[in-house]
Amino acid sequence: MLRVTRISENIAIIAVMHRLLVVFVFLLVACQTLVHQPSTPSSPVVGTHTPAVLQPSSTPSFIPIPERNTPISPPLTAASGQPIADTFTVNFHPDGALYVGDLISLEVIPLAESSLEDRSVRVQVDGPDGVILPEGEFAPYGIGGRFQATMLWVWDTSGLEAGEHSLTVSIVPDGPTWTETLSLLPQEGVPLPEPGSRWAQEESECCLVYYITGTPAERDLEWLLEMLEEQVDKANRLLEVELEQPIIVTFLPRVMGHGGFAGDEISVAYLDRNYAGSSEEIILHHEFVHALDSDLGGELRPTMLVEGLAVYLTGGHFKPEPLMSRAAALLPPVEGCVEPSDGVRISGDINSGVEICGLDWYLPLTLLVDDFYFSQHEIGYLQAGALVEFMVDTWGWDAFSDFYRDIHPQAESPEDSQLEGGTQALAIDTALWDHFGLTLQELEGSFLEALEGESLTPVLAEDVRLSVTFYEAVRRYQELLDSSAYFMTAWLPNGDQMRERGIVADYLRRPLETENLVLETMLAAAEVNLRAGDYKRMEELLIAINAVLDAFSSSDADPFASHPIGSDYFHLVEAILAAGYQPEEIRLEKNKARVRVSTSGLELLELNFYRERVGWVLMHQAGN
Ligand SMILES: [Zn+2]
Repeated sequence: MLRVTRISENIAIIAVMHRLLVVFVFLLVACQTLVHQPSTPSSPVVGTHTPAVLQPSSTPSFIPIPERNTPISPPLTAASGQPIADTFTVNFHPDGALYVGDLISLEVIPLAESSLEDRSVRVQVDGPDGVILPEGEFAPYGIGGRFQATMLWVWDTSGLEAGEHSLTVSIVPDGPTWTETLSLLPQEGVPLPEPGSRWAQEESECCLVYYITGTPAERDLEWLLEMLEEQVDKANRLLEVELEQPIIVTFLPRVMGHGGFAGDEISVAYLDRNYAGSSEEIILHHEFVHALDSDLGGELRPTMLVEGLAVYLTGGHFKPEPLMSRAAALLPPVEGCVEPSDGVRISGDINSGVEICGLDWYLPLTLLVDDFYFSQHEIGYLQAGALVEFMVDTWGWDAFSDFYRDIHPQAESPEDSQLEGGTQALAIDTALWDHFGLTLQELEGSFLEALEGESLTPVLAEDVRLSVTFYEAVRRYQELLDSSAYFMTAWLPNGDQMRERGIVADYLRRPLETENLVLETMLAAAEVNLRAGDYKRMEELLIAINAVLDAFSSSDADPFASHPIGSDYFHLVEAILAAGYQPEEIRLEKNKARVRVSTSGLELLELNFYRERVGWVLMHQAGN
């Protein structure tokens, strides 16, 4: 646990910081404080049903979203006689193709609400005489609290034959039972940087850094260590603390959630094709604020204020941004206002006197406070950051800090209060009264008044609208085609255990089908347009991305044909793969595409492709 001592006072830095819009590259979005780490489970059964086969496709055909585990009849009844959900889905880890030697994990997930508390999962490998894996118990998993059996690294495949293997999965004691068939590829076929890659660590003044060798984090380690120092210094200064123990930071070679998680350690995505558009600086600063904040005490630190404080002190959520004036975009439209997109076309500047329409996305605080992580993500964080800014501007940093560290659970609700006992809303309301003599409702009233006083520009309104739309698309992509990364149920095994056991595959392997490469480069390009303020181009890309995701959701045979930009990116990615490269970034400009690619190693190359009648053709390496 971090030990912290107070060094000195400097409010000034804070005020200047967020008003000046510090020029950070964008980021991500925000972290979640982890609620559950998968633990290793424990034993067995039978009954039969043969659903899907898991195999990577060699030809660029699309793997339809699998229908699994059609229920066997008769449907089950629990001891209580209550019907049990009759379909389960099973996720396997690591992602993608599986190889002999892999330590395989299972997530057995009932697709419908069901009473499975007193049931568990038994898995037998390769028929009735095969080994029975440690049994899995059902329990809530991840931030979303998805009810599932998480069977971490239960199947050690070292020494097994390559080829098909069957797993008989039984819900015990009374079923159902069905069989999953998996293909294990030969061990020697594991993708680079395996089998050589290992966990490695580096200690710096502020941090103990873990990364996997053979990944971009190793390539850019020097820069990362420097950047970490810088961000910790900033967070230290803002919270007036001095670290006494290194903060543990793990760089992940794949996107997880929106890019960062804070739990026992800070996990941050660092890779060349980061489709969540996160930049490490802001994520790490955000996470460091959490790490330092969690050590500065406070009996109850409400989630909304914890996240609001991190967004406020980081100077933005997505990128360096004015919080209050952006939050003003969430208000309902006023009579005679002009749509932001029209506003951008008409005037684009603040003094045109044109009243820009708000998006009507504002979330009432009493709802947001007690349902923070389940509320619309970007809106919740923006509102929380703006509220902290408003409170600091109104009462000053010291008064805000004293209030924030003096919030306590309130089991009973006073007679005259609308707020429920035991809620964070009531706890905040009580502390507000004690410190500032006002209720949460009154605070919200003055907050809304201040937001109405902000001058909303069309550019800001468009930026908020498209930022929210972008992240909705990122999460939609994850749920459909990169489910281990979806923040509510991200696959984040315990870091210590992974390092102790030398397990790297759970982070190194990620879906790398053509559709993943296409959609990820489209998302990354959209985010670059957002940061550049090129809203028109960005919206075109978002429309294309959602058209393709719609097509995938409806198991369309040719999803990329659903939109011309989608089709362009698809054919471009095919051309890049055919030329022997992995696409990391694609900038498409009519008949020309500037592409950043990686080869088998970590080296990145800039290439130019041109659209010819025959399709996309590699012209030459950029700069040659
Ligand atoms: Zn956070």
